[in-house]
Amino acid sequence: MKKTITIVAGALLALSACTTEDAQKSTVTEAAAPAATPSNLTARSTGSKVMMQAFYWDCPGGGTWWNTISGKVPSWASAGIDAIWLPPATKGSSGGYSMGYDPFDYFDFGSYNQMGNTETRFGSLAEIQSLITTAHNNDLSVIADIVINHCSGGASQSNPFTGGSTYTNFTPASGLFARSYYDFHPNDVHASDVGTFGGYPDLCHDKTYVQDWLYNNTNSIAKYYKNTMGFDGWRFDMVKGFEPWVVKNFKNAVGGFAVGEYWDGNAATLETWANSAESSAFDFACYYAMRDALQGNDLTKLNNDMLLKRNAYRAVTFVANHDTDEIYNNKILAYAYILTHEGYPCIFYRDYEEWLDKNKLNNLIWIHNNKASGSTTYLYADNDEYVAKRNGSPGLVVYINNSDSWQQRWVETNWASTVIKDYTGNSTWEPTTQSGKWVQIQAPPHGYTIWSVK
Ligand code: ZN
Ligand code: ZN
Ligand code: CA
Ligand code: ZN
Repeated sequence: MKKTITIVAGALLALSACTTEDAQKSTVTEAAAPAATPSNLTARSTGSKVMMQAFYWDCPGGGTWWNTISGKVPSWASAGIDAIWLPPATKGSSGGYSMGYDPFDYFDFGSYNQMGNTETRFGSLAEIQSLITTAHNNDLSVIADIVINHCSGGASQSNPFTGGSTYTNFTPASGLFARSYYDFHPNDVHASDVGTFGGYPDLCHDKTYVQDWLYNNTNSIAKYYKNTMGFDGWRFDMVKGFEPWVVKNFKNAVGGFAVGEYWDGNAATLETWANSAESSAFDFACYYAMRDALQGNDLTKLNNDMLLKRNAYRAVTFVANHDTDEIYNNKILAYAYILTHEGYPCIFYRDYEEWLDKNKLNNLIWIHNNKASGSTTYLYADNDEYVAKRNGSPGLVVYINNSDSWQQRWVETNWASTVIKDYTGNSTWEPTTQSGKWVQIQAPPHGYTIWSVK
C-alpha cells in the first residue's frame, strides 16, 4: 500500500508516505518511541555499519537501474549494509545516457522530456521514489550524489563577463534553478574559484541566488531532496572545485550524513577539509596505502598516515569506486583491512555483486558490525604480513598474510586466559590466550584470519 501511495501520488506526497511508513515501523518495533517526523529520516544509523556504492561507471542504462537496486536492497540490508549511495539522480546533458555528473536540471528525476529523454539513465521518477521507499522499509539510508561544481547542457548566450559566448543559459523544464552567466565564473563577484572541471560552466557559490537554490529556499536542492524525495544524506562530488563552507552550509541546512570526494592522498589535507566542511571525507590516503601495500607487495604501507587514523569519525574508507579501481592483487585483503579498521567502510557494487566472493564479504561485514569496535593497536607489519587489534569489547585481532604459505605469529591480545577463534572460518585453531594475554595465531596464504573471544 505504501508503495502504491508513493507511485500514484508522486513527488509532493512522497514525504507524507514516508512519514506514515516510519511511524508504522516505530509502532511495531519501538512502541515507546515518539511519533516519527520527517527529520527522523536523518536519524538512521548511517555511519555505524557499512555503506554500499550502488552503481559503477556505465552501469546498465535504459532506465532499469533503480529497479535493479530495489531488488537487491533487502539482501543488502540483511547482510548489514546501512546506507546506499546512488549516482546523481537527475537529468544530465547527455539525457538517457548520462551517469549524472553533467547536471542540467537538478529537479528532473526522470519526469520531463528534455535532453532527448524523459527517464534518466537509471529510470523514472516513480522508480526512484519506489527505490527510496524500499530502502527506508529496510532501514537503509539513501545517500544522494550532489554535483554542484559545474553544470552542463546550457544554451549559448553572449556573456558580458567574457566578451564572448558561453553555454551558460540554463532553462530547465522543471522551471527550478534557471541559471545564466551571472551564476558562473567569471561574473560580477568572482573571476574564478578553487577548481574547474574541464570546460564545463563553473558554478559560483558566492551568488546569493545560487546559495538560495542550493540550500536556502524551501525548494532548494538540499530541502527538496530531503523533504520531498526522502534522501537521508549527501555525497558531494569534486569538492576540490569549491570552498568547504559550501558543503558545511548545505549539510547544516538539512542535516544528515555528508561525505565529500576530496580526491587527495594526503591525510592531513583530508583532515583539514573534513574539519572545515564539518563532514566526512573519502579516505583516499587509506586507498592509496592499500594500493601500494597490495600492488607493491609491502604491507608496511598499511602503517602510512590515513584519515581514519587521524579522525576515524570523519573517514569513509573504500577499496574501489566508479572513478578508480587499481587494487587487483588479492583485493579481498583490502576489504579485510577496511572492514576491521576504524572509519565507515563503503563497498563497491561490482566487488560485492560481481567480482569478489560475496560470502567472504558478508562475513567481513558481520565482523565489522559485531566485533570491530574501539581504538586500534598496530601489532606487526612486514612486506607480506600485517597484524592489528581493535580494543573495544569484545574487539578483535586481524592477521593479514600476503605470502605464498601459511604464517603463524605470537601476538599480545586484550584477553587473558580466554579461548579465541577465527571468525572467518579460515583457521580451525581455537587457542587459549596465556595469563599474560599472548597467543599464537595463524593466517592462510594470500588470506586473513580475524580472531575474537569464542
Ligand atoms: Zn521512509
Ligand atoms: Zn565564485
Ligand atoms: Ca569550481
Ligand atoms: Zn568523481
